[in-house]
Amino acid sequence: MNKYVLVVIRNATRKFDKLYTYRVPLNLSEEIVLGGRVQVPFGKGNKRTEALVFQILNDFIEKNQPIKDIIEVLDKNPLIDEELLQLVEYIKGSTICTYYDALRIMLPVFSKASKEKKVKGVRLLKDHQEVVEAIESNQFNNIQQIRVLEILLDVPFISVTDMMIFAGVSRSVLNTLEKHGIIEFLEIEVLRDPLSNVSVTRDQSKEPTVEQKLALEECFKILEEESFQEVLIHGVTGSGKTEIYLQLIEKVMKIGKEGILLVPEISLTPQMVSRFKARFGDLVAVLHSRLSPGERFDQWRSIKDGKIKVAVGARSAIFAPFKNLGIVVIDEEHEPSYKSEVTPKYHAIEVARVRCKMKNALLVLGSATPLVETFYRAKKGEIKLLQLLERPLKAILPQVYVVDLRKELEEGNRGMFSRLLRKEIEKNVQKEEQTMLFINRRGFSSFLLCRGCGTGIQCKHCNISLTYHMNRSRLICHYCGYTLPVPKACPKCGSFSIRDFGVGTQKVEKEAMDQFQTSVIRMDLDTTGFKNGYETILGRFREENIKIMIGTQMIAKGHDFPNVTLVGVLAADSILHAGDFRATERTFQLITQVAGRAGRGKKSGRVVVQSYNIDHYSILCAAKHDYEAFYQNEIIMRQRLGYPPFENIGTLLIAGEDDQKTYNRAMKVYETCFEKTKELNIGGDDEQRLNISKPLRANISRVKDKFRWRIVLKCSRKENLIHLFAKVSDDFYSNNKPNTEELSVDINPMNMI
Ligand code: ADP
Ligand code: ZN
Ligand code: ZN
Repeated sequence: MNKYVLVVIRNATRKFDKLYTYRVPLNLSEEIVLGGRVQVPFGKGNKRTEALVFQILNDFIEKNQPIKDIIEVLDKNPLIDEELLQLVEYIKGSTICTYYDALRIMLPVFSKASKEKKVKGVRLLKDHQEVVEAIESNQFNNIQQIRVLEILLDVPFISVTDMMIFAGVSRSVLNTLEKHGIIEFLEIEVLRDPLSNVSVTRDQSKEPTVEQKLALEECFKILEEESFQEVLIHGVTGSGKTEIYLQLIEKVMKIGKEGILLVPEISLTPQMVSRFKARFGDLVAVLHSRLSPGERFDQWRSIKDGKIKVAVGARSAIFAPFKNLGIVVIDEEHEPSYKSEVTPKYHAIEVARVRCKMKNALLVLGSATPLVETFYRAKKGEIKLLQLLERPLKAILPQVYVVDLRKELEEGNRGMFSRLLRKEIEKNVQKEEQTMLFINRRGFSSFLLCRGCGTGIQCKHCNISLTYHMNRSRLICHYCGYTLPVPKACPKCGSFSIRDFGVGTQKVEKEAMDQFQTSVIRMDLDTTGFKNGYETILGRFREENIKIMIGTQMIAKGHDFPNVTLVGVLAADSILHAGDFRATERTFQLITQVAGRAGRGKKSGRVVVQSYNIDHYSILCAAKHDYEAFYQNEIIMRQRLGYPPFENIGTLLIAGEDDQKTYNRAMKVYETCFEKTKELNIGGDDEQRLNISKPLRANISRVKDKFRWRIVLKCSRKENLIHLFAKVSDDFYSNNKPNTEELSVDINPMNMI
């Protein structure tokens, strides 16, 4: 008797997003495996197409249309096990993506044919001098192209993957440059993972402190019970959370199971990696985005073959194909980067929860500033709360001073440093101790403002002001990369009085050099865009004992610099008005984190927070290191305004080139929402609240020449929102609708732009 299978077709778009049935010819019925690849005839021309066996049907009766035969079996062993296949269903169902989208994030082989020893690289085709001149004479008006070229002026060649990461560009930018004969692609040998040979001396677990011991014992108990449980470790920075993770993973390995540790990509520094290598040696794999496809495949295979017991990595490491997963640890659980902003828009914590439940594994979330939603669940008893209040090395938390910038202004200080901060910096410079100055990139990059007509200079393609970059003398759009040299006159009114407004890192750098006459180093996207730029700057700061570091969010993350005794936050409120309900929480998190950089060594630290809103609870509570008080204030606001954890937020973003047509389409989607709500019988009573806003322009109303209209929904039940969105997207993409516009859906987004 023949077997039948349901398969997922490789590269299938939304229109073809379903499971297709094929018959397994008798000669292949021994070979076919669940979770392996096959070749099938597909479409009108019966084109040979790769597919993955998603389900094997044992009793299937052919009815109406004839079922086609599988052509060939490609894998004799499964690439993906049953549990991960279940996870595919979950991802598809909860984020409203296709089967293929969900599969491809789990399976490196399904998305790319990459077993190769060689990878694609790029190099300059034109003479260096010619390229420099072309950039200077403004022949390129796209900053991404310029960044690519600048990197290629520095290195003879670089792999395409690395280039895309270091320059922050997509493949199409490289293709354009190639088409114009400026660069060329070539085959290069795979380079080894730069972090794989970080040399380390092995170390052993530290004798836990009393608090660590309590937390560990609670978790050991859960591990012995082998039942799913979620734990939140809430402890200030430096309170020894990472040491707990290490000891928990060690325990899990002892009982023959495996572990995943997620950290934000930006924290995957050699420092962090060596801590794990020191403890687990070759049993740990580091999965970061700088791996080439070949390396990624190797790592994936070692995990699958059981050679690796611990995977440390950013968001997508949650899909590491372990068979006996015993623990997932998510460090800095509040980080927005755990939510994917591209399809499939999954949240790594939610995926972790599903995986841990399947395996009766322990899920550990750690943070000094947990998400309000997470803490709420801990308070309700859904998550076990473990708190660490002391730092193991008895390092004390820094003293935080809040300075009122309004008062400084009133009393005649127009500079960017308050009198207190200036005095403290001077002290530090004298004592040869280091200072970190922090500004927020989003709220505080600088713009050019015309005093003639009062407007900022906007991007041609996006509805947003261009950012002024002093060292390049250029204006750059941070959304699409469009760039202009600084104009002499206002393009709108012709006035010559254009001046820069706001404070950028470069301006602070210049001002700090002028005022303190000392060594200054800057870390932001401009200075770290080069290969290893990030590590180089941190290394110099430490080794050369540079007195002042100026930076954006990047410097807020877990680095340990024992000689940093002063941290300055130049304008704490710069994100407070970001037009996102998470802005308050972000402000609290950032100040707390930045403050945590001071006094990590034996010397105690000071923090100076400058602000125009010194009475705001996010700033006051951060200054007192008081998470609990912040939470109490914030949760009341969330309830009053109907935000998570009380309501779920869903967004439908409709984008298109013609503003009126896009709006009309958005109105149609809006109407569809109501129709489907009735069909599904949701909303209506208090138990299942549902609120649908009329289409409004998105905060950034045009990006890359596309107008963006957004519908925001608030819904008390997440499942209802998911059902509704699935119906709405099916309707949007149904065969009889034109597809000149795009729809993207997001459930509980971390950013509302
Ligand atoms: P967190 O992850 O909460 O920021 P870490 O685990 O990095 O904290 O600990 C901060 C510092 O204290 C690190 O240098 C770590 O090696 C050290 N440390 C942690 N636990 C202990 C312990 N039980 N005994 C001695 N030192 C410890
Ligand atoms: Zn003007
Ligand atoms: Zn733009």
